[in-house]
Amino acid sequence: MEQGAYNPYMTAQTQFDQVAEQINLDPAVRALIRQPSREFHFTIPVKMDDGGTRVFNAYRIHHNDARGPVKGGIRFHPQETVDTIRALSMWMTWKCAVVDIPLGGGKGGVICDPHDLSMGEQERLCRGYVRQMVKNFGPAVDVPAPDVMTNGQHMLWMMDEYEAITGGHYAGVITGKPVGMGGSLGRREATGYGVIYTLAEALPKLGMDLAQTTASIQGFGNVGEYAARLYETLGGKIIAISCWDQHDRKAYTFRKKEGLDIGRLAEIKDTFGSIDLDKARALGCEILPGDAWIAQEVDILMPCALENQITSEAFTRISGQVKVICEAANGPTTPGADKLIREKNIYLIPDFLCNAGGVTCSYFEQVQCNMNYFWPLDEVLDKLKFKMTAAFHAVHDLAWQKSLYMRDAAYIIAINRVAEAVKMRGWV
Ligand code: GLU
Repeated sequence: MEQGAYNPYMTAQTQFDQVAEQINLDPAVRALIRQPSREFHFTIPVKMDDGGTRVFNAYRIHHNDARGPVKGGIRFHPQETVDTIRALSMWMTWKCAVVDIPLGGGKGGVICDPHDLSMGEQERLCRGYVRQMVKNFGPAVDVPAPDVMTNGQHMLWMMDEYEAITGGHYAGVITGKPVGMGGSLGRREATGYGVIYTLAEALPKLGMDLAQTTASIQGFGNVGEYAARLYETLGGKIIAISCWDQHDRKAYTFRKKEGLDIGRLAEIKDTFGSIDLDKARALGCEILPGDAWIAQEVDILMPCALENQITSEAFTRISGQVKVICEAANGPTTPGADKLIREKNIYLIPDFLCNAGGVTCSYFEQVQCNMNYFWPLDEVLDKLKFKMTAAFHAVHDLAWQKSLYMRDAAYIIAINRVAEAVKMRGWV
């Protein structure tokens, strides 16, 4: 079940089953919510710049909509699989439930590498995706958002296609749009800031002062960058960041033991989060192999990239100094490694709680779009902090009172909320 044969959907179902067993979940509810409610598998033919046509395979999966319209990102990735999307759609349901926003869970993906596509080709791919899904999208049905390798521009093309087909303005059909075009202030920062809002609540519980801590981060996309920025602003020191290098097609870790300057690093990264090697050397960074990020002597590890990064093997390289793991990515830890984290008593902020800031701000964006009135940045961030902090304390308190692992406590809260909605609607 580890590297190679790794299947995130099996991870998601294993996690779910363990907790369902623990809370003695009604068998019918269990059968219903351990798998997606509906799945769309489709093809998108795209006219390429060279005059040819390429056919892309794509998915949109609705895990559960008992608590509200389905919500979740659309990712572009060459290694995308339907089981990854299934797992991610399930995690979205728990994510929306744990922060208590009235939305369900969904996810979408296209098997493609946007690095190899021109802007025109990407636009046609986005529009093609919407044409296939238009009957099942909508502010009251399914509300997509950006995810790995998709951004505000992609969302705007998708919104425009949806509006062109349906003949009205429905900015609430999609979130993560550019500010001024139906986007919310704070959405760019939201996921990364949310990670640090939870971390800042967790550290005092462990008797630690954030300003005295060090961290190592995997990933310097939107989530990694803004988590790093806020952590640095609050006084933390980031020793290492690893990220993908598109040119060499492998990852590197950028390390500076005295602490990286995140603002300067952000200036030398491209739109997909790759850092320029020569410019990084000029900033005094050591350049190490991509997986070196996990082996640093730091207090906090923040996986902010993809799933399947903390495996049992990788766990053996984690320093004894590490006290906290913030799962900013979705599903970064395999079940084998999860067991070891639990046994070693490392404090875990589980993914669907830790990275829920993105969807929480997406929810705020949707609310603003639906009423066509937009809030100032401070108001958005205040509301975000309030939601993330409340969700963190609910999970931490349950874990503390019942001596539970943090992931299980988060699952118990989320599953119970979804189970209640399913029962109240009379579905089971
Ligand atoms: N793709 C992000 C996530 O995994 C955001 C989803 C959203 O904003 O709907 O949480």
